[in-house]
Amino acid sequence: MIKKLGFLALAVCLLLTFLSPGQVAAQSQLKILDSSVEADFPSRLTFDLSAQSGVDISDVRLRYTIDRIRFAQVTSEIKVPFVPATTVNTSWVWDMRLTGGLPPGSRVSYQWTVTDSSGNRVETSLSRVQFDDNRYDWQSLTQDLITIYWYNGNDAFARELMTASQEALVRLKASTGATLSQPVKLYIYGNTQDLQGSMIFPQEWTGGVAFTRYGIIAIGINPGNLDWGKGAIAHELTHLVVHQMTLNPYGEIPTWLDEGLSTNIEGSSPFQYNAYVTRAVAKNNLISVRSLASPFSAFPDLSYLSYAESYSIVGFLISQYGQDKMLQLLNTFRQGSTYDGALKTVYGFDVDGLNDQWRDHVNALYGVTVSDVVGTNSWVFILVGVAFIAILFLIVWQVRTRKARRGGTGG
Ligand SMILES: [Zn+2]
Repeated sequence: MIKKLGFLALAVCLLLTFLSPGQVAAQSQLKILDSSVEADFPSRLTFDLSAQSGVDISDVRLRYTIDRIRFAQVTSEIKVPFVPATTVNTSWVWDMRLTGGLPPGSRVSYQWTVTDSSGNRVETSLSRVQFDDNRYDWQSLTQDLITIYWYNGNDAFARELMTASQEALVRLKASTGATLSQPVKLYIYGNTQDLQGSMIFPQEWTGGVAFTRYGIIAIGINPGNLDWGKGAIAHELTHLVVHQMTLNPYGEIPTWLDEGLSTNIEGSSPFQYNAYVTRAVAKNNLISVRSLASPFSAFPDLSYLSYAESYSIVGFLISQYGQDKMLQLLNTFRQGSTYDGALKTVYGFDVDGLNDQWRDHVNALYGVTVSDVVGTNSWVFILVGVAFIAILFLIVWQVRTRKARRGGTGG
């Protein structure tokens, strides 16, 4: 519960009283008695206000702004309902189940304006509430721009995660030149269930989320699953850095680039990603680079293949053309370039050109082998085998029948 008295509002009110003596009686009596906000994470913020005047209070408004990176100031104004009276106690509930949620640790600035029937008006000073997930007892650890918040696991667990975060930034810089420029808050939930419990509309596969415009990451990491957790941190941190670097009012970067960078910085074994791409090459069902610019399919097989291909495409660009070009590509996207335009500016080919080059590359790497064909087209082999046995059986049967006939005529 955060409480804030309307001292400034009162001061403003008294100043106005001094400047315009004609309205002394009414103005000196309109005042805000109390203003507070209560957080009930993740579903609601309740803003309370009590105000008093010598005449009926006629209008109460709440204005609020969410603190996040934006290109235009967006302030919401709520006309709060109440019964007009000289003393008013009212509140407004921001129900996140209707609007969508906010990440843990996000901040909201707010301000009340109260008007009475004589036309007098008071305003509270701008206040700020931090929407913390106060259902847990968070501890924190800060190094440079990263702060880790956690509640499950000991200090060594948090230090390991911090080391993994810093190492991920080093890997990211080495392969792309991208660096973190704004502070990051990393909320480590004790497990996936706790993480999903912190979200209004969680997807059942959500294991980690980067709220890139807030500089906040939330991940569920069980201390017994540390290796997975380190990879997940590296993945989400990369999303955050890349979005900080490329954010512009005109467009997003293609999904294959976003997820391809994150999967490359995860630091886990590429075996699974490569296996997916190898299988798709053998079956000739690779998804085109152009299709991978859009959000990925929700069907698990297509989704895994999309991540695997993105891993491969970004790996190809970095290994063939180097870190400098990748940094140039991110900077070009920050200018608001189109997908084709950015690739053409930096590499000299467009999305289809990249698709051709990358396909040649993976075809050469994972080209069709006999075992792939047997694996993928095994039903053909079974049919051929059955037909072969059937023909063999017919031949043997005919030969035996002829022999029997000849034996019959001779005997
Ligand atoms: Zn991702």
